[in-house]
Amino acid sequence: MHFCPYCHGYEVRDSALGVIGGEDRAFSLRQAQLIRQWSDDVVFFPHRIDLEAQEREQLVARGVRIVDGEVTRIVSDETGVRGVELAEGPMIRRAALFVGPRFVPSDELLTALGCELNDEGWVATDRTGRTSIDGVWAPGNVVDHTAQLINAAAAGSAAAIALNNHYLVAADVEKALNGHTEPAPAN
Ligand SMILES: Cc1cc2nc3c(=O)[nH]c(=O)nc-3n(C[C@H](O)[C@H](O)[C@H](O)COP(=O)(O)OP(=O)(O)OC[C@H]3O[C@@H](n4cnc5c(N)ncnc54)[C@H](O)[C@@H]3O)c2cc1C
Repeated sequence: MHFCPYCHGYEVRDSALGVIGGEDRAFSLRQAQLIRQWSDDVVFFPHRIDLEAQEREQLVARGVRIVDGEVTRIVSDETGVRGVELAEGPMIRRAALFVGPRFVPSDELLTALGCELNDEGWVATDRTGRTSIDGVWAPGNVVDHTAQLINAAAAGSAAAIALNNHYLVAADVEKALNGHTEPAPAN
């Protein structure tokens, strides 16, 4: 079972693909269109999504087959996904399946420290990853579920530079001053 067309689409391109409707309706519908970019053979299983006429038309226009009904089981074996079983009807054979995830940040440490949250309920940061708590930076997926590896690594780099600029340089100077006995020469 896959989640991301950018992470896994290429590997399953041009095969019989399926997209199962998840809790986030808009995400699921977009995901079906994204997966369609990887294969001409895509089935969308709305599952518990009651498609509106326009949504149905957009899928059909792109050649996405819609199979209504509640998904009851993903059939798989040691080679991977074999297909999808619905409450009624035969198994629909598929080589790979995608489903919309629910993004949940592992931010217990940050919330326990009292970091402020943004409107979406994720820890709020500035563009360097700086949180509302002095000295605490949070880069990557813990604050941004859209970050791919390269973005998360770049955010980590920006946070490290900001930390060094804001704290570590000053700490070096303070430490040096504490052990410094001679006054600075006057100009
Ligand atoms: C199934 C899947 C496939 C993916 N494929 C791709 C891909 O092909 N290409 C791509 O670019 N991106 C891919 N991604 C996204 C990629 O994994 C992320 O962009 C990246 O891992 C984010 O890095 P991060 O350091 O922010 O978070 P993470 O990699 O999640 O690292 C956070 C770490 O912190 C640890 N941690 C959490 N809480 C605590 C705590 N309280 N104390 C100590 N440690 C803690 C966690 O255990 C984890 O090891 C994929 C993601 C998933 C889920």
